[in-house]
Amino acid sequence: MAETVLNKAESGEILSREDARQLLGIPNGSEAYYRLLGIANRDARKRFSGRGSIFAQIGMDAAPCPANCAFCSLAEDAFDPKNQFALSLDDVTKMVDQLVPAGVDEIFLMTTAGYSKEEFLAYGREVKKRLPNGMRLVANTGDFDTAYAQRLKQAGFTGVYHICRLGEGKDTGLDPAQRIRTLDAVKEAGLELYYCVEPIGPEHTVDDILQEIFRAREYPVEVMAVMKRVCVPGTKVCSRGEISAVELAKICAVTELCVRPKRAMGVHEPDELCLMAGANQIYAEVSVNPRDRSLQTERGRGASVARTEQMLRNAEWAR
Ligand code: SF4
Repeated sequence: MAETVLNKAESGEILSREDARQLLGIPNGSEAYYRLLGIANRDARKRFSGRGSIFAQIGMDAAPCPANCAFCSLAEDAFDPKNQFALSLDDVTKMVDQLVPAGVDEIFLMTTAGYSKEEFLAYGREVKKRLPNGMRLVANTGDFDTAYAQRLKQAGFTGVYHICRLGEGKDTGLDPAQRIRTLDAVKEAGLELYYCVEPIGPEHTVDDILQEIFRAREYPVEVMAVMKRVCVPGTKVCSRGEISAVELAKICAVTELCVRPKRAMGVHEPDELCLMAGANQIYAEVSVNPRDRSLQTERGRGASVARTEQMLRNAEWAR
């Protein structure tokens, strides 16, 4: 059965939810598993013309976040308020001035859910002025309505990374319906939506994963990604463990073949196996990172631009 779906995927046919279910059920390490990865790899290399992409994300603040996501180092229940800080505009522009000449393709500004919406716009305007013509600026911030999405656009943001997370409303203090309203607001304002199946843990079912793969396809999106949940010490769900890199590569391959994003297919954290399974895009990160206890993730889990470049080269993606 999986063989039939693999043939379909190989010939470029549109895959149904049932097809994707078959592919996600392929046993890891089997012959079919490697065929799946090979098909996604070939498909992605052709669509992205063999070029890998590096996005850079700047974590703008560390604060006890009211969304209280059970996997995040910045969640109210996990974050020590004495470590609270917000980057100054000067800090952020200096980071941008280092990242851009280092060769990143796009800049993302990320905040906790309680960050001032006005301040975020003000930072966005200043960052936009420093970007080369045509470089995309992407917001990764709390929920908002269409009026705010329009203001993001006016401020110079070209897109928004926003998702309905796996376990949203159960492992997070956020309402899934509100998350979806924000996704709609992004589209209504004419901003580009960046989507991801995340944060994938061992407890998530095939149906949970399929729901987010197909939500992305329905919007649709041109930049897609997968991300596994990492165990951040001190967070509520750390004890649930992590999925393996092998499992993530399978989900990456299936996601790539179902969504076939036009611009990029990403993986968080950067992972060379996924770069051989349909992903061509990874992140360099500076300052705060929800997956890291370090408040300077570039000294912790976060990958530098140099490291992401090397990983892309290792997987023979051109830069
Ligand atoms: S993942 Fe984002 S929204 Fe959730 S607690 Fe962390 S910073 Fe807040």
